[in-house]
Order: sequence, then C-alpha cells, then structure tokens
Amino acid sequence: MKQLIYIAEDEKNIRETLYSFLENDGYEVHKFLNGADALSFVEKCEPALAVLDVMLPDTDGFALLRKMREKHDFPIIMLTARVTDSDKILGLNVGADDYITKPFNPVEVLARVKSQLRRFLQLGAAVKAP
Ligand code: CA
Repeated sequence: MKQLIYIAEDEKNIRETLYSFLENDGYEVHKFLNGADALSFVEKCEPALAVLDVMLPDTDGFALLRKMREKHDFPIIMLTARVTDSDKILGLNVGADDYITKPFNPVEVLARVKSQLRRFLQLGAAVKAP
C-alpha cells in the first residue's frame, strides 16, 4: 500500500513541485492550500507524514503543527522562507521533526521525507518489540 503524505502549502509552484516529486516516487499525496483543510483531513485519515508551510493563508504553520501534535505523532516537516535560528528552534520545540528552508532542492526534500519515514518506522518497531 502506498504511504500517504499531506502537503499544506499555498504557493502553487512549491506545492506542485513537491507533489510531483513525491508522487513520482510512489507516495500517495494529498495537497492542501490552507491549514484548516489539512487539519480536518488529518482527523479523518492520518497520513504517514506531513509537510507544512509556516506561512499559510489562514494560520501560522507552527499553530497548525501544535494542533496536529495534540493527537498525532506522525513525522512533520516544516517548510519556510524564514531562516533565523529562533524560528528553527521554535519549530523543533513545538514538535517538528525536520525543518527545510526555501528555496530548496526537491531532491533534498524527498531524501528528508524518506529519512523521517524510515526513522518513524524504526521507532514504531522498537516500541512494539518485546
Ligand atoms: Ca506559504
């Protein structure tokens, strides 16, 4: 079964680029243009991983991240144009698993997605082991 990935990003170019890279690599990808839609889908169907933009039209990506973290622990990668260390630290403190600054190379994003999914699977296996 294909792993499900959510992308919340209002910038069309970035959203479509990530979408094609992930889809070409065999993932099932759902795209969202705002935080509210992404959050309501997470409640209905939990993804294997989510990529969240920090600057969404209806919400701060960090606020969205916090809401998702209340009930879910799938890997979340934050995407942002902000480059200050304090933003990175804030993102990691509120439960982001990784942080990618724009402009980025989509190949790198794909590699990070894979690495997070691998890590999460290993964690799950470790928890379930006797
Ligand atoms: Ca944005």
